[in-house]
Amino acid sequence: MTRRATARGAARTSLDGRRADVIVCGASFAGLSVARELAGAGADVLVLDRYEIGERATSACAVPTPWMAAMGVEAAARQVLPGMSFTTPRGGRVRYALPWSWTAFDYRTLCQLLWEQCGDARFETATVHGRTGDTVHTDRGDLTAPLLVDAAGWRRVLTTPHVQPPDAALSRGLEVHPHDPQGTDLDVYLDRDLIRRGYGWSVPAAGERRVGTLSYDPRDHVKQPTRRLAQELDVETVRYQGNWFPHALQQATTGTAFCVGDSAGHCFPLSGEGIRTAFYFGIACGRELRTVIDGDQTREQAADRYTAFHERHRAAFTRAARLQRLIPALPPPILSVLLRTMSVQFVVDRAFGWYLQQAHPSLAARPPGPRAPHGRPIEHATLPR
Ligand SMILES: Cc1cc2nc3c(=O)[nH]c(=O)nc-3n(C[C@H](O)[C@H](O)[C@H](O)COP(=O)(O)OP(=O)(O)OC[C@H]3O[C@@H](n4cnc5c(N)ncnc54)[C@H](O)[C@@H]3O)c2cc1C
Repeated sequence: MTRRATARGAARTSLDGRRADVIVCGASFAGLSVARELAGAGADVLVLDRYEIGERATSACAVPTPWMAAMGVEAAARQVLPGMSFTTPRGGRVRYALPWSWTAFDYRTLCQLLWEQCGDARFETATVHGRTGDTVHTDRGDLTAPLLVDAAGWRRVLTTPHVQPPDAALSRGLEVHPHDPQGTDLDVYLDRDLIRRGYGWSVPAAGERRVGTLSYDPRDHVKQPTRRLAQELDVETVRYQGNWFPHALQQATTGTAFCVGDSAGHCFPLSGEGIRTAFYFGIACGRELRTVIDGDQTREQAADRYTAFHERHRAAFTRAARLQRLIPALPPPILSVLLRTMSVQFVVDRAFGWYLQQAHPSLAARPPGPRAPHGRPIEHATLPR
């Protein structure tokens, strides 16, 4: 449930003129993953967010379980979901037993666990308005750092022009969080009468259920579909949470700032899954920044290498974007048959194995340091089957 803890009024002292080695704008999945990689680097790392860490979640908070251990955040887990079901009006319910499970977690706890791994990094609540060169403009004054990270989500606060719906490549999602003990799997609802281009979901989280809908078309509203799905599932329409999120890769850097997570479009089209990708690209970005701090490469070289890493994933994002266009266009009977055909275990294992590989937790498992030799690209994760 949303709780406001952010400092107001006199508690919001001026930060004007503050300097740091790295300023990370956004203290959610992406920003904390970057800061975590800089722990022990001896750098002055300042993390900014308009809210306190973990104060405000806008997500169903489900990730592939292997990522929980990889990030050292298992204690935030609420429920492990071993399977996924897909329900269509004509085809009924098809269940897939996954080669890996999902875990529904508690946002506040997970953010706190990540923050505990961020070493000497400092945190301030401040709303970022924009940037001029190496200076970040906030509601608490102007702050400067040679290394800037935009991890503030789809709005891309360090970039102009800002991405704006409905013209931008954004999806929109809204969910309710009723207390409800039911559910064992991550359930997906594909019904064009419910939502024209998108899907509905139910994510059980040990006594709470996260029920929502997303639309790939930012012009389509999601409140009515979410209310309808909640009514169909017989759960209360309480504790609404929603946001926009990207479905197209953007640039990895803008000017001298590094973009990570939703700000770089690191959210998979089709599934709308953006937490593990925020971890994944946050780690990659953090490691590049660390080599700059260590004096092993320049900021420009780090930007080039991070951009190359980001671009190596473009094909997977493009494939998911094609499926995002194709699946809503399929005649419903064909979609139902396809979902049944795909439920063969061999196919499930292959499809979901491929999906996990696109942002694999083995990248996190590599301990920070020793540093990658100068000029060598960041290793692509080794990909166990
Ligand atoms: C309803 C819904 C359900 C979802 N469910 C899932 C799911 O179950 N699993 C999954 O993988 N993905 C899910 N997603 C997508 C996922 O939430 C995003 O992809 C993910 O949160 C991106 O992480 P991030 O750190 O890049 O950005 P965010 O999590 O959006 O974090 C951005 C941070 O920046 C801060 N910020 C923003 N603007 C400013 C500013 N001007 N100044 C200072 N700080 C600022 C925010 O307060 C926030 O803390 C869902 C999305 C929605 C909308």
